[in-house]
Amino acid sequence: MIEIDNVSKLFGAGDSAFRALDRVSVNIRENEFFTLLGPSGCGKTTLLRMIAGFEGPTSGQILLDGQDLSDKPPYRRPVNTVFQSYALFPHMSVAENVGFGLNMLGRSKSEVAATVTEMLKLVRMTDLADRKTSEISGGQQQRVALARALAPRPKVLLLDEPLSALDFKLRKEMQLELKRLQSDTGITFVFVTHDQEEALTMSDRIAVMSAGRIRQIGGPREIYDQPADRFVADFIGDTNFLPAEMIARTGDSAQLRLAQGVEVTARAGQIDKTSGTVTLAIRPEHARLVAPDAGQLTGVLDEIVYFGTDTHYHILLDGFGTRFVLRLQNTPDEMRMMQQGDRVGVALAASAGQVLKD
Ligand code: ATP
Repeated sequence: MIEIDNVSKLFGAGDSAFRALDRVSVNIRENEFFTLLGPSGCGKTTLLRMIAGFEGPTSGQILLDGQDLSDKPPYRRPVNTVFQSYALFPHMSVAENVGFGLNMLGRSKSEVAATVTEMLKLVRMTDLADRKTSEISGGQQQRVALARALAPRPKVLLLDEPLSALDFKLRKEMQLELKRLQSDTGITFVFVTHDQEEALTMSDRIAVMSAGRIRQIGGPREIYDQPADRFVADFIGDTNFLPAEMIARTGDSAQLRLAQGVEVTARAGQIDKTSGTVTLAIRPEHARLVAPDAGQLTGVLDEIVYFGTDTHYHILLDGFGTRFVLRLQNTPDEMRMMQQGDRVGVALAASAGQVLKD
């Protein structure tokens, strides 16, 4: 539905020009919850602003339903934006805020009233329709901003870090609410966040960006289980990176030798190598903490960090020069007597890891 085709964006001119986006290509499908995810400054907002029409590409094209958008100003695109700051009118009531855009579009009084009622119901704000927006909570303001953006029934809703001002609990609630709104309305959502957990929870598909480029596009599971490269593996979730030697390769399966002489099998992922030095990525949940003689790897417990639901164990592996982190759930019947400085073993799940491109 939205085709972003080889788009680059330069700010400034000549030698001092800054390349905020570098040959970005993405296809966003109709009725999809699509997320642009990446660290601060990677170009997410710039890309979103280009879909909205606030910014034009330096090269490349953006198409909507097969039509080039370049000469369409923002107000003529079937696209609406929810900003981080909400940008509500504080002197107007909730209902007036929601109806504002529709009035500007010259819709009839009865149509405006009917849509406002419907939208307030959708975001569960009917009871506060007459309250001024300066007199409602941050979470409620967020709902009003959403209702206002959805009211003209755009084909695409762009959301730029809309939950970042909310506290943790409310944020979790609104994540589910946004997902519900997206599937109830069938509108395509393009959502910007730097929060990987938020992206994994809400999205149908995610584009992971860094330094103006797309690193990987895929569903949450695909991105988490099969990161395309080291950046993605590091940015999404926790990952242990271990240096390894590839000693054999058959299709997607690689035989690796690690320090301590241990041999493991791992997914070869997207790398072309059949031998030589590689990096093995292993998620913490794919390893178990065991007695020193009961796993493949040994080391010393360096740090124990309590997280409520689970505890993270940091292990200095013998001969690796790297730390290995694994997580264990804190169950009431489990008594762990381990302490910093104890010798421990690490048992790796079979074929759990993935070989990465650097
Ligand atoms: P954040 O999560 O911090 O909002 P982002 O990924 O959305 O980051 P952008 O706002 O798209 O990043 O900015 C991408 C890069 O382009 C940044 O390095 C930023 O400084 C630069 N940039 C953005 N707008 C302009 C501008 N108008 N002029 C010059 N540089 C700009």
